Amino acid sequence: MQNRRKFIKNVSAVSLGGMLAGRSELANAASTSIFSVNAPKKIGLQIYSLGKELYKDLPGGLKRISQMGYSTLELAGYKDGKINNLEMSEFHKMAEDAGLKIISSHLNPPVREYTASNKGLIADFWKKAADDHANIGVTYIVQPGQPLTRSIEEVSLVCEVFNEAGRIAKATGLIFGYHNHEMEFARVIPGGKEMFFGRRAFGGNQPEGTEVIYDKFLRQTDPELVIFELDVYWAVMGQNDPVEYMKKYPNRIRLLHIKDKEVLGQSGMMNFEKIFEQLYRYNIQDYFVELEGISSGKQFEGVKGCVDYLLRASFVK
Ligand code: MG
Repeated sequence: MQNRRKFIKNVSAVSLGGMLAGRSELANAASTSIFSVNAPKKIGLQIYSLGKELYKDLPGGLKRISQMGYSTLELAGYKDGKINNLEMSEFHKMAEDAGLKIISSHLNPPVREYTASNKGLIADFWKKAADDHANIGVTYIVQPGQPLTRSIEEVSLVCEVFNEAGRIAKATGLIFGYHNHEMEFARVIPGGKEMFFGRRAFGGNQPEGTEVIYDKFLRQTDPELVIFELDVYWAVMGQNDPVEYMKKYPNRIRLLHIKDKEVLGQSGMMNFEKIFEQLYRYNIQDYFVELEGISSGKQFEGVKGCVDYLLRASFVK
């Protein structure tokens, strides 16, 4: 009897040969591996996008997400070892049953102000969080909330705490990341008491030692321990160009939040084509669509509108 595995392998080789011959132009045009030409698009979703709607019928909601065309998830709502009061293993099982892979999770330590005396408390939080998330096989644990950063000194302390979180994550086989909003693009001064936002801050004359918080996060955290999940919409709201940051820090920005004012592509504020161009150029493996509360109040519809936009877009591979 012919070895079944060998037989399948031979058939695959033939098909691949045909595919290579017939589609070489297409493959070249896509300037990517032939293997990805016909592969479905890998689109992730941050579950926060669905708000409370998701929990009305979680197994059903997850199936709807999968049917829309999403394939990966980033969690939100971690607390005391649970996701929105649900056992993580249970959530994980429901996601798997729906054909969705959980690869990331958003979570914040219990304090916003970091001090020398609460660093231990924060480290304990990350230790438990890392263990809980390793148990369900995620790759990334990401902090989405900005700690207090009112001075250069506070930013430095936050960087130390991020490095420690990164160390803890790494020891558990995970990767620690930080997700921005707009205020990380504010500036701080040595010994300062507040953040200065926008191009008119300081009346155009920056005091000596002024730094952009986000840049300092990028420069002062250890590249071996901390990655960045750039929320492209919040970067724009922070009066900055996300593409410029991706170009400047290609080894640090390793995840993206693909977000617009509401449904992707509708506001005209975001140049997603350029963003995706950089994503492929720097081989960023994962990104998550995010939608905040929308005016229609219909989150599932909005989330579907977002994935439809990406499925239609020729610049998304
Ligand atoms: Mg975001």
